Amino acid sequence: MSALLELQNVHKRYGDFVAVDDVSVSIEPGEIFALLGPNGAGKTTLIGCITGLNTGFGGRIRVAGYDVARDYRITRRLVGLVPQELNYDAFFTVRELLAIQAGYFGVRPDDPRIDALLESFALADKADANTRWLSGGMKRRLMICKALVHDPVLLFLDEPTAGVDVELREELWEYVERLRDRGTTIVLTTHYIEEAEQLADRIGILNRGQLGRVASRDELMREFGDATLEVEVDAPIPASLISQWRGSLDVELVDPTTARLRYGAGGKDETHALIASLISAGLQLQRVDSKRSSLEEVFRTLVRRQRGGLDGDE
Ligand code: ATP
Repeated sequence: MSALLELQNVHKRYGDFVAVDDVSVSIEPGEIFALLGPNGAGKTTLIGCITGLNTGFGGRIRVAGYDVARDYRITRRLVGLVPQELNYDAFFTVRELLAIQAGYFGVRPDDPRIDALLESFALADKADANTRWLSGGMKRRLMICKALVHDPVLLFLDEPTAGVDVELREELWEYVERLRDRGTTIVLTTHYIEEAEQLADRIGILNRGQLGRVASRDELMREFGDATLEVEVDAPIPASLISQWRGSLDVELVDPTTARLRYGAGGKDETHALIASLISAGLQLQRVDSKRSSLEEVFRTLVRRQRGGLDGDE
């Protein structure tokens, strides 16, 4: 399958400052890709390079095989962008706003797709309302409709839920999932790990302009996640057992009767080995607790590592 979006060695500078540093990635049709990164990582800049808002970048970007610099007339029609901030003129009605936007792409103002969009984003009864009268959630949905009015195959959502409450966030996630079901390829930027976890097929971590590991949530967890098993027994753990673990299991004593095992991917054998050795030493299990790191912790670890690598201080 050929990539819908292909970035090859993309870099962008503002003066001497490198905002995007040699980014290469391919995104498949129908994929939801989350670009995760701290403030100022370069997410908006990178999206700007793809959508035509930022020119003068290095490297190559192709959308559906078309070069965004050379074939920009074609690629601009293929992409839709929902920016971070509300970007419409508040003097129009909902329908007028969409009709104007449609006009930029040669779509007639009475094209049935405008009504279809209003219907699917639950804005049909607000079609003739002034956009100032909409609730926060309706405004966000209108932004998505505006980006979809010319039927793009690739949609960028730049922090779609920044500053919205939990309920609205979940509502917006539902709409994003519906778009995916319709076959739209989506790239979203977010600070919210939970959002990436909920929606994305793959996650890429951008830090100081560099794209680190790109992987599915499960792959990231397997590779960089940490798991611990804490076992408390009814009597002090003998020194002979502790030395028996040395070299084969990563165990520390929390207190004389509690052992904590750290294990990485899989780990079933290690957890079984720890418990079996405690039981065969005649100890009775009092408490067994397991804990896995969240994607949030994995994200922090990765950003720290990337930073360490860049600063040379790790
Ligand atoms: P956030 O999550 O805060 O929105 P981001 O990952 O989208 O951040 P960008 O907005 O792409 O990051 O900014 C990346 C870096 O480039 C920042 O240090 C920013 O100050 C800088 N930058 C962005 N736009 C410009 C510009 N037009 N001129 C100079 N520097 C810029």
